[in-house]
Amino acid sequence: MKKCPFCKEGFLEKKTIKETYTYKGHTIEVDQPGEFCNSCEEGILNAADMKATEKQIRDFQSQIDGLLTSSEIQKIRRKLKLTQKQAAELVGGNTNIFSRYERGEATPMRPISHLLRLLNNHPEQLQELTKS
Ligand SMILES: [Zn+2]
Repeated sequence: MKKCPFCKEGFLEKKTIKETYTYKGHTIEVDQPGEFCNSCEEGILNAADMKATEKQIRDFQSQIDGLLTSSEIQKIRRKLKLTQKQAAELVGGNTNIFSRYERGEATPMRPISHLLRLLNNHPEQLQELTKS
């Protein structure tokens, strides 16, 4: 077992803990995998450990900020019958931006979130934006 680099007494154990995450006064509990010390409870997270909670935390922040969450974005895009590529063309982003939004790897800027929300309520307006 690896010795803890923080307290130098305990040992690091690979496990998943309940971690409380706070954003703008709101809290959420996430299942955070990582290597945690059995003595001082400090932890080391690698890229995969951080990825495990990224979507959940990002969606939580979006809800508090009044932005669309990853699943809402996917739902609206499908309702509008747009591919991820077509949706990206509509908002002028990188071609892979919707796959990143929908996987919870990126948060849309507020105007993009607003546009999608409007199109969700008025899907017939889409043709006005896509006619050339
Ligand atoms: Zn320790």
